[in-house]
Amino acid sequence: MALLEVSDLSVQYGRVTALEKVSLTVRDGEIVTVLGANGAGKSTLLKAILGAVPARGGGVTFDGADITARPTHERIARGLSLAPEGRRILISLSIEENLLLGAHMRRDAAAVHREMDAIYARFPNLAERRHMLASCLSGGEQQMLAIGRAMMAKPRLLLLDEPSLGLSPLFVQKLFELIRELNAGGLAILLVEQNTGKALGVAHHATVLELGRVVMAGEPAALAADPRLREAYLGDG
Ligand code: ATP
Repeated sequence: MALLEVSDLSVQYGRVTALEKVSLTVRDGEIVTVLGANGAGKSTLLKAILGAVPARGGGVTFDGADITARPTHERIARGLSLAPEGRRILISLSIEENLLLGAHMRRDAAAVHREMDAIYARFPNLAERRHMLASCLSGGEQQMLAIGRAMMAKPRLLLLDEPSLGLSPLFVQKLFELIRELNAGGLAILLVEQNTGKALGVAHHATVLELGRVVMAGEPAALAADPRLREAYLGDG
């Protein structure tokens, strides 16, 4: 079933058209990746899905409900959560305080603690240092914390904005293993990436944006074999 349906979505920043009639679908249990160069509109797409920037045209449906005009907090309560580009960790807060920020919408304290235990079980590095400042974490660990924080909202669809950016090859490897594991547990993921090869390796479906428009979409294997994509995003040609 379609969990997220983006249809003909357009977003404008003043006179700049950031998205022009973009459509894509994420079904339950799927990883969908959105690829494209800097400035293609990938972050804007995630922000519009979350309601952080308004749609000028088109719409967003989540779990059967039209959320196009709904506020961000309602979208999060319905099961959308974002790990933003650049991680946005608060380095003057502890690891645990950063995690709790991801749960500030939730009222059930016992459920929040269960969630935190599950996150600590998944990330022993974070558990060991839970009361230390987030500034003590490496870039890779901060990315795990950003994902952990997003998971604290108990999402049904996790939005990841360029999670591999700036990570060492080892952490990139770990990150993609984590994405697979989270998805194997039933979580749907919308993954914005510039690491085209890795993203196509985990995704069930891929969409390529250029200058705010969808220029290619389909099965990752078919896209990976497409000479236009290979030349532009996989360094071939
Ligand atoms: P990146 O990987 O660099 O973040 P992106 O694919 O995520 O790129 P967006 O950040 O969504 O692209 O930007 C899409 C377009 O919108 C670009 O032309 C960008 O300059 C413009 N843009 C983004 N944010 C704003 C803003 N707040 N005000 C004006 N223009 C913006």
